[in-house]
Amino acid sequence: MQYIIEGYKPARLFRFFEEISAIPRGSRNEAGIADYLVEFAKARGLECHRDAIENVFIRMPGSAGREHEPAILFQGHTDMVCEKNNDTVHNFETDPLKLAIADGKLYAEGTTLGADDGIAVAIMLAILDGELESHPPVECLFTSQEEIGLHGADAFDCSLIRARRMINLDSESDNSAIVGCAGGIRSDMSLPLTRMPFAGEALRIEVKGLMGGHSGENIHLGRANANKLMARILNVLLAEDDLHLCTCVGGSKDNAIPRECCALVSVRSAADAAAKVLAIAEDIRGELVADDANFTVTAAPAAAPAVMLDTDTTRHIVLPMTVAAIGVLAMNHSVGMVEYSRNMGVIRLEENSPSLRLVFSSRSPKESQLTASIRELDALAALVGGSFNHHSRYPGWDYAPVSPLRDAYIDAYTRLYGEQPIIKSIHAGLECGLLKAKIPDLDIIAIGANLENIHSPAEKMELASCEKIWTIIAAILEM
Ligand SMILES: [Zn+2]
Repeated sequence: MQYIIEGYKPARLFRFFEEISAIPRGSRNEAGIADYLVEFAKARGLECHRDAIENVFIRMPGSAGREHEPAILFQGHTDMVCEKNNDTVHNFETDPLKLAIADGKLYAEGTTLGADDGIAVAIMLAILDGELESHPPVECLFTSQEEIGLHGADAFDCSLIRARRMINLDSESDNSAIVGCAGGIRSDMSLPLTRMPFAGEALRIEVKGLMGGHSGENIHLGRANANKLMARILNVLLAEDDLHLCTCVGGSKDNAIPRECCALVSVRSAADAAAKVLAIAEDIRGELVADDANFTVTAAPAAAPAVMLDTDTTRHIVLPMTVAAIGVLAMNHSVGMVEYSRNMGVIRLEENSPSLRLVFSSRSPKESQLTASIRELDALAALVGGSFNHHSRYPGWDYAPVSPLRDAYIDAYTRLYGEQPIIKSIHAGLECGLLKAKIPDLDIIAIGANLENIHSPAEKMELASCEKIWTIIAAILEM
């Protein structure tokens, strides 16, 4: 194999990164990388377990004299997001990534790099390959299907794990550690729909141009939610213009802040209603953050469909959308972070939909808040004769008041770099939450190399930051 990364230490970490970059490893396609890991362990006589979902767990004894120290667990995911530029020819099932370097940063030509989380795999392989002369017993957990719902970590049999401290390697900056993450739950509301022949005048309303973003990591930025703005508009027409909904479609993912929402409605007078819509839009414009500067609303007469929802059904959709609390619901004031949030990510009501789809996603590191969210949404649905299906719940990882591993990290970092690292929680899901739920006394930090633009073809990894993370890990294992 031709290697391109030269001059960074430890050399074998980068060799491993290049080797695994030649193995296609999109989510659900982890068999190849699992084969590689099992072969790697076999060749070195290391205990190795592979499960049905292609998680791989490898154990290495402590170095001479340190065999009886408490073990440490390293963890990261083998799968990557497969995205490419439109003009790039690349088959993610079969083709190796084409790595290149510019300005000390590694990237893949035209595709995602998979440093999220290939860097974790490479670091664990370097450790298991004996790069550190002195170390306690080491366990390495390579999980699968992280990017599509944390399925590998969810399925893994944690009884194999003996360690009670874990370094997760799926973070994205070399000067910080993550010490907590949010859990989440998805809630889909359904509602019986009663339709009647169309009457009145048809009006098409479109809300567009919002910035959107990730419903966890960007929820504190104050960006507007297109579905919520549509609800605000519809609620006025409901009160004054004999509104009947025909269709309403907004957002595409439960975990993205919706940027657009489009509704086709019946009103008494399309011209009157359109004027009101545009007036509300001007009110809204004066309230938006700078990120949403491209916000536009249009309201124009449209061809009438055959049917529309009756008045009650229309109310039963517009009212919950109007009153449902979304955005940041609670702050953790002791750390100045979002603690509890909710997104109204998707509304799908097509002309002939048998039922409404209105999708919320709630997040919190505290199980009690997720439970409270379920009850609050259920109460809302009960008011209008609807119901919620709550699903895809995963636990968070709440900030631990006492964490010797966190202390060791801060100590090592401060000694090495003469300044304090940043300690933070994130408002998104991590595999750490699932593992912590299964091993409640697991002491965890999450660290990682500097990555940019993950999940996109512009993904880059700063090579010097990999050296830095390696140095920190080595220092922690020395303690
Ligand atoms: Zn990741």
